[in-house]
Amino acid sequence: MDHLKQLIREIPDWPKPGILFYDITTLMKDHKGFSEVIAGLQTGVSPADVDVVLGIEARGFFFAPTVAHSMGKGFIPVRKPKKLPWETESVQYALEYGFDTLEIHKDAVQPGQRVLIVDDVLATGGTAAAVAQLVEKLGGKVAGFAFVIELDFLSGRDKLNGYPVHSLVHY
Ligand code: AMP
Repeated sequence: MDHLKQLIREIPDWPKPGILFYDITTLMKDHKGFSEVIAGLQTGVSPADVDVVLGIEARGFFFAPTVAHSMGKGFIPVRKPKKLPWETESVQYALEYGFDTLEIHKDAVQPGQRVLIVDDVLATGGTAAAVAQLVEKLGGKVAGFAFVIELDFLSGRDKLNGYPVHSLVHY
């Protein structure tokens, strides 16, 4: 899927010096590229092994609901603090650039449900590992992770030990 790289815009020093930001808005506005991504994100796991698809705010929301719809599954949002209206479970995690907290509704995942976690970029793996913790706190099981982009040099995959990790484009 390396041809998708020509649709991904690279922005040096954003949001701060030293970060090379991979902008997927240029990929999403290309119909063929976007369709390939939605199809590709589903190929790492068998649909029979997934009960529900989870997306991480904000850029995970660009992909996860469409993947869920396409797989015939429901969608669960994981959001930034104080956005979800019902009782939540929360987790703090380290980013490539800073710290943050994420929340999930306490009743979003049923015990034993198998959850496919979708996000745009796997960088250090802090976000994805935190979301796996949230799913497991609720008694769910991580069916796997699907990313549009993986930054191999940050070894984020090592934080997701044991889970299937599927990324479409590697840098
Ligand atoms: P991490 O927790 O370090 O794996 O960071 C993952 C999250 O940060 C993803 O949800 C991305 O949206 C964002 N992110 C981190 N690094 C980059 C980057 N170089 N380009 C675009 N997004 C990034």
